[in-house]
Amino acid sequence: MNVTVETDVLIVGAGPAGLSAALFLSEYGVENVVVEKYRWLSNTPRAHITNQRTVEILRDMGLEEAVIEKATPQNLMGDQSFCVSLAGEELGRLRTWGTHPSRKADYDLASPSRICDLPQDLFEPILLTGAASRGTKIRFDTEYLSLEQDEDGVTATVRDRASGETYGIRARYLLGADGGRSKVAEDIGLPMEGRMGIAGSMNIVLRADLSRYVAHRPSVLYWVLQPGSDIGGIGMGLVRMVRPWDE
Ligand SMILES: Cc1cc2nc3c(=O)[nH]c(=O)nc-3n(C[C@H](O)[C@H](O)[C@H](O)COP(=O)(O)OP(=O)(O)OC[C@H]3O[C@@H](n4cnc5c(N)ncnc54)[C@H](O)[C@@H]3O)c2cc1C
Repeated sequence: MNVTVETDVLIVGAGPAGLSAALFLSEYGVENVVVEKYRWLSNTPRAHITNQRTVEILRDMGLEEAVIEKATPQNLMGDQSFCVSLAGEELGRLRTWGTHPSRKADYDLASPSRICDLPQDLFEPILLTGAASRGTKIRFDTEYLSLEQDEDGVTATVRDRASGETYGIRARYLLGADGGRSKVAEDIGLPMEGRMGIAGSMNIVLRADLSRYVAHRPSVLYWVLQPGSDIGGIGMGLVRMVRPWDE
C-alpha cells in the first residue's frame, strides 16, 4: 500500500461527530486528518435543536457568535403544536425548549449561553471552519475502504473519488465517525443491537411563506395528526421549521 499521508488521528466522516472531534483534537494540538466520501457537507437540514450545553462548548471554542448569527433564537423555538393540518384545527400546544416563563429562568441562570435551533447544513460549515482554522486537514471526495491495525497504529486504505486512485493513510488512531451505517464499525466487528429499517420516512424541504399559519404560534415542530394516515411510519407527520417562516 502506497502510504502518502501520516497523522496522529484519522477521522472517517465529516458529519457533526467527525467535525467536532477534529475541532477539539486540533484545539488540543493533536494532529488530525478528516476523510469525507462526498465533495461537501450535509446538503439537507437534518439535526437542528442545539442544546444550551452544546452552545456553551462552542462558546469555549470561540464559535458561539457564528452559531447565534445563523440560528433561530430560543424565543422563536416556542411551543410544540399539535394540529390536524397547518391550516386546520389546532389540538394543543406543549411548552418546550425552556420557553415556559417558569422554566426560562432556570435556563437563563444555568449558563451565559442559550439553546437555539441551527439546521445541520448551516452548523457543519461552522464546525469545519473551526477545525480547519486550527489545523485539521480535510480531504473531501475521499472514501474510506478498509483498515489494518497493528501494535503501533492503523493503516487505512482510502479512494480519491475524483481520480479513482487508492492510497494509504497511516495514523496512530482511527476514529470511525462515518454515521449510522458505519463501515468502520463493521470492519472492526463492533456488535450492533436492535433491528434496522423498522419504519419508513420521507423528508421534503419546501420554501413558501407560511407566516400566516405559524408566526402567531412560533414553534420548530408542528405535529400533524390524521388518524389512519399511518403507512410505513408512526402515523404522524411533522412540519418542521428550518427557517422562520418560509422554509
Ligand atoms: C433527513 C434527516 C433528518 C434528521 N433530523 C434530525 C433532527 O431533527 N434532529 C436530530 O437530532 N437528528 C436528526 N437527524 C439525525 C442526524 O442527522 C444524525 O444523528 C447525525 O447526522 C449523526 O452525526 P454523525 O456525525 O454521527 O453521522 P453523519 O452525519 O451520518 O456523518 C457521517 C459522515 O461520514 C461520511 N461517510 C460515510 N461513510 C464513509 C466512508 N466510507 N468514507 C468516508 N466518509 C464516509 C458520510 O458521507 C457523512 O458525511 C436527521 C437525519 C436525517 C437523514
